[in-house]
Amino acid sequence: MRALNADLHCHSTVSDGLMAPADVVRRAHTNGVELLALTDHDETGGLAEARAMAIELGVPFVNGVEISISWGDDQTVHIIGLGIDPDNAELLAGLHAVRSGRDSRAMRMAAELDKAGIHGAYEGALKFVGNPALVSRSHFARFIVESGHAKDVKSVFDYWLAKGKPGYVEHTWATLKDAVNWIVGAGGVAVIAHPGRYRLTSGERRKLFTEFKALGGQGIEVLSGSHHDDEVREYARMATEYGFLASRASDFHGVGESRVDLGKLPDLPEQLTPVWTVLTPISGSELRH
Ligand code: AMP
Ligand code: MN
Ligand code: MN
Ligand code: MN
Repeated sequence: MRALNADLHCHSTVSDGLMAPADVVRRAHTNGVELLALTDHDETGGLAEARAMAIELGVPFVNGVEISISWGDDQTVHIIGLGIDPDNAELLAGLHAVRSGRDSRAMRMAAELDKAGIHGAYEGALKFVGNPALVSRSHFARFIVESGHAKDVKSVFDYWLAKGKPGYVEHTWATLKDAVNWIVGAGGVAVIAHPGRYRLTSGERRKLFTEFKALGGQGIEVLSGSHHDDEVREYARMATEYGFLASRASDFHGVGESRVDLGKLPDLPEQLTPVWTVLTPISGSELRH
């Protein structure tokens, strides 16, 4: 059977993507995506616009979100929710609480960057923000490139914004349990985003997977814009071992900032069960209700 061109992780200007929600869907359509989820960070505000365009273009679509959590010893982990009801009150309240810490975090980041010689970063980052509640390190990165302190967004993270670098500040996000409960409570499927990105020992990674599964988490991203081939093989193996559904996820933010474009990942390894076997795309008739 031909593999489905599913892409279940990407961003719009509602979080730290470079394109408006409708434009993300247009690009997915052009690229031949056959099932799309928009998964903005800690925010569902772009879903209505994306859904409307998905129906206009006939792109099968599921509502998504990417929730920031703190796990273990100040590790930030991202949990994707797929097929959520974007009007679920607990989910909305939870995401609101997660977002509410971002502004003061941004001010603390700017204070640290100021000490390190990068001035005016808070105001600078805000110029790149589409949604004032969602200032992120990506917006700081764009300002730091613009102000000539780094050559591209990736180098900003390497030199300034990653954990241990001068502009990094600790921050407490949601708990793993809260994020999974919000997603499952809103009728969605919880998936660990880009497991290869976290700096965890193999023991810690197993602990994360075990806890996630016990809480009701069902999937992991095996194919991700941030995974190299050896990581794809490793997470394919772990999906089988843990009985996780497998996701295919570009994590596209925009042209020039993302290694992988919408719908341009390889096929999932055949032995895995794709996460989309348990997802129901939104249809036009549903939107008209
Ligand atoms: P925040 O939620 O404010 O901590 O910002 C995290 C975002 O920064 C991620 O969702 C990515 O879009 C971006 N990011 C994190 N690490 C890197 C990296 N090494 N290179 C490029 N972008 C990154
Ligand atoms: Mn991002
Ligand atoms: Mn992420
Ligand atoms: Mn993402």
